[in-house]
Amino acid sequence: MIDGKTTLTGLLGWPVEHSLSPALHNAAFARLGLNWAYLPLPAPPEHLPEVLRGLARCGFRGLNVTIPHKQAVLPLLDELSATARALGAVNTISIETADVGSPRLRGDNTDVEGFLHPLRAQNITPHSAVVVGAGGAARAVIYGLLQLGTRKIYLLNRNPGHALRLAQSLQPLAASGVPIIPLPFGPATLIEVCQTVELLVNTTPLGMHPHIEGCVWPQDLPMPAHLTVYDLVYNPNQTRLLQIAKQSGARAIGGLEMLIHQAAAAFQIWTGQPAPIEEMQQACPPSWRN
Ligand code: NAP
Repeated sequence: MIDGKTTLTGLLGWPVEHSLSPALHNAAFARLGLNWAYLPLPAPPEHLPEVLRGLARCGFRGLNVTIPHKQAVLPLLDELSATARALGAVNTISIETADVGSPRLRGDNTDVEGFLHPLRAQNITPHSAVVVGAGGAARAVIYGLLQLGTRKIYLLNRNPGHALRLAQSLQPLAASGVPIIPLPFGPATLIEVCQTVELLVNTTPLGMHPHIEGCVWPQDLPMPAHLTVYDLVYNPNQTRLLQIAKQSGARAIGGLEMLIHQAAAAFQIWTGQPAPIEEMQQACPPSWRN
């Protein structure tokens, strides 16, 4: 029940109607008996500054930020976490409302924590990795791998210019002697690189509903069994890529874990309490969970 004392949070994006975040967070608030609510907040790009200011003045405590606002919110915030500053992207805002006249907005990025969670939970610390795709998600993934201590990262992308630009912008964040190597994406290159690396991460939308037959790996070829294959696609959670990985004896990680754990990290930033992961998992559509 929403009443006059409900603490408000929500998702800023354009559009937001397909997001799972309201279901995840509202299930978690209900489980912990918190009088909090999470709303979808569609914000057209040209009105982002006034929407953000207005929500902060209305007493909103927390916001998630999604496409196309993850970079655009940066200059509108008072403070950034080290991760948000390094990535140049914010997916979580916490709003300090102690002084109602002048709320303070702090930007964070929990995508990195979400990505790293299943790797840390399974003690997977790859010495080398290949990341396919060079968009916003790849940026968080490569930053996360650098945090994890990965010593060599190949970055394969359809548009080689995008891979080169991303590699150049992240290289200064890598320890000395840790190369980020951009290459054009193609099946032969991917197969060759996967002979030597320990982790393959798909950050392209290939395999995502409704085009579930899409796959970065050639459909009729087995994968090296030593690989861990991490697909960021979460709808469906068992993508064609992960099916091939399992059939080949490789370890498979689906994107739903990242989705849930980036939400859980935001939940903890806002409420100060650990998120009830099981409730969040149950809030996902059944077809995503298997
Ligand atoms: P993005 O910024 O649009 O980047 C997409 C990347 O995929 C680009 O590098 C693009 O290549 C490449 N790509 C797109 N279609 C392709 C195709 N048909 N063949 C080969 N490469 C293709 O998107 P994003 O924000 O990084 O998100 C990427 C995926 O990750 C989406 O499926 C998203 O749902 C998923 N994701 C999941 C989570 C999670 O929590 N599990 C979090 C974030 C994102 P070009 O540079 O050549 O265009």
